[in-house]
Order: sequence, then C-alpha cells, then structure tokens
Amino acid sequence: MNSDQLKKNEPAKSTGKNSRRDFMRKLGLIGAAATTGAVASGFTSQRTPEEEYVKVMTSDNKLVEIPKSQVKEVKLDTEALQSRGRLGIAGKRWVMVIDLAKCRNARECIKGCQEHHHLHPYQYHINTLVMQDNPQSAPYNMPKPCMHCDNPPCVSVCPVDATFKRQDGIVLIDNERCIGCRFCMAACPYSVRVFNWEEPFQAQLYEAQPMEYDVEANIPQKKGTITKCLFSADCLRGGDLPTCVRSCPNEVFYFGDENENAVTNGTTRETVVLSELLEKNAGYRLMEELGTKPRVYYLPPKDRVFEAPEKPDHHS
Ligand code: SF4
Ligand code: SF4
Repeated sequence: MNSDQLKKNEPAKSTGKNSRRDFMRKLGLIGAAATTGAVASGFTSQRTPEEEYVKVMTSDNKLVEIPKSQVKEVKLDTEALQSRGRLGIAGKRWVMVIDLAKCRNARECIKGCQEHHHLHPYQYHINTLVMQDNPQSAPYNMPKPCMHCDNPPCVSVCPVDATFKRQDGIVLIDNERCIGCRFCMAACPYSVRVFNWEEPFQAQLYEAQPMEYDVEANIPQKKGTITKCLFSADCLRGGDLPTCVRSCPNEVFYFGDENENAVTNGTTRETVVLSELLEKNAGYRLMEELGTKPRVYYLPPKDRVFEAPEKPDHHS
C-alpha cells in the first residue's frame, strides 16, 4: 500500500498534533503493504549523497535506512501471510477504549468494517447495541467488537488450533484450518463470533481477481468457517488505526499500545495517556468477573441520548 492509498483509506483528518500516524511513521510502520513485504539485500553502509534512502522495518522489528534501489517488493504467499499473522507485531500490546458517552449510533464503524472485511450486510464484526441497565435508567448505545481477551475461552476450546492468541494481544482465526465446528462460538461469553453460512459477499469478485488468503484481514471469507473482529490486524501491520476506529465521526474510539500507555482517538487523532483516561473516567471492562481479561475498555455512558423513563409519582 503506498502513501496515496493510505490517504484514501483515512476518513478522519490528522491534526498533526500528537498524531498516532506521525508516531507510527517514525517507527517506520507506514508503507508496509497488506499482502506484500519489502526486503533489502546486500546493501552497503556507505552512504552516498546521490542515493535516495528509505526507512524499512527488519523482520526483528528494527528500523534501518537503506538505499531505495536495494529495496525489492516481494509477494507473500498464503503460508508466509499465515506465519507472520500467527506471530503478530513484536513489542506491541494493542488495546481499545470505547467512550459510551459519545456514541450516537452513527453506524459508520459497522459500515467501514463490513466493507473492509467483505462481510454480508447481516454479518457484524462490530455491532452497536441499545442497552438499558435497569427499568429506571435511560438506555444508551454500546458498540461491541471482539474483546481480544487475554484469557480467551474461544482459543482453548478450538480442537484444531485454528483460533489463536498472538504476542500483541490480538485473537485471530486461520480460516484455512477452521473446520467449522463452532465450539468457539459457544465458548465466547460476548457472542461476537459469526459463522459464514454462505459464500462470501460478492464472491464473484474473487473469481475475476483471485486473492491470496490473508489471516490478518480474514479475507477472502470462507463458507463453513468462523469470522470475527480482528482489531484490523492488517491495518496495524500497515501503520494505521483499525477501520472502525478511523470510521467513527463521533470520537467514540481510542486505540493504542498498552506497553506505551498511550491511545489515539480515531476521530480527533489526539493521543492521550491510557491509564489517566481510564482512571479519570472510571473505565471498566465487560463481564470482568469471568476472568477473560478483555483488551477492550469502556468509559461510562454519561450523556445519554435517550430520554429516561418516566418515574412513578410517589406522592400520589
Ligand atoms: S470476546 Fe469472545 S471471541 Fe473475542 S477473544 Fe474473547 S472469548 Fe474469544
Ligand atoms: S469453528 Fe473453527 S475456529 Fe471455532 S473452534 Fe471450530 S475449528 Fe476452531
């Protein structure tokens, strides 16, 4: 993916200030292609003023500068994509924060995600639910992706090691291994897994233009297997925020690296301190009592868009 394509895929404008994108650019993550990799071979350390130099990330995550002429684009095959997809991005612990006070059910996160992962309109990797805690309280909107649990029950029940947890915290599915038993669907307490009952949405497009299966994008979807939210692992690989995070117009999503204690808002592109955001706003996780250790945090729905139900009049 080149920089022009990245710009096209970026719904929200960067303010330039504290930009996560700028930060990731410094790390050299920008410019990696979704299904290709760049390799450099036999370059010399002698720098010449005539040569154009580019920054690339080595396989052990080191940033190096090499002459542009010595960079070679290589097409990754399914095996290579699966092997890097299993490992994840070294040194990262991805985390998401969802601000329920901001959600207006714009559903742009859902649309962006369905488009990115070639889902049928009835399939959701992320969905917005209307919640009501008790009959006296006002309802609120709650976007619900996969929680990418650190103790994921979906992973331990898979009989063929098709679903797995990576070093960067993301839980993925290898659709080339999945046998469609749906044990993982039954085991997930958050009901976020989706079964592919049909051929993929617009399957004819793959016939016209065959596509290598990428475990980090989970496309092409495969009939008879499971799919779910991937934290847009392919976008992270390319140095960008997940699709839902970038698509939201209402500042609902923050995303970042727990190791750096920093998350970036997908709408404003402002980067904030994760621990402060959670502490100041009483962040919490869904069904923590289950011990699943979700990597998705919620900030409480302070400003509800729905009217509170009428209270019974105790004086009459
Ligand atoms: S939310 Fe469900 S599918 Fe996602 S990691 Fe947790 S148990 Fe697995
Ligand atoms: S449906 Fe696929 S991913 Fe889920 S438990 Fe069965 S084989 Fe594993």
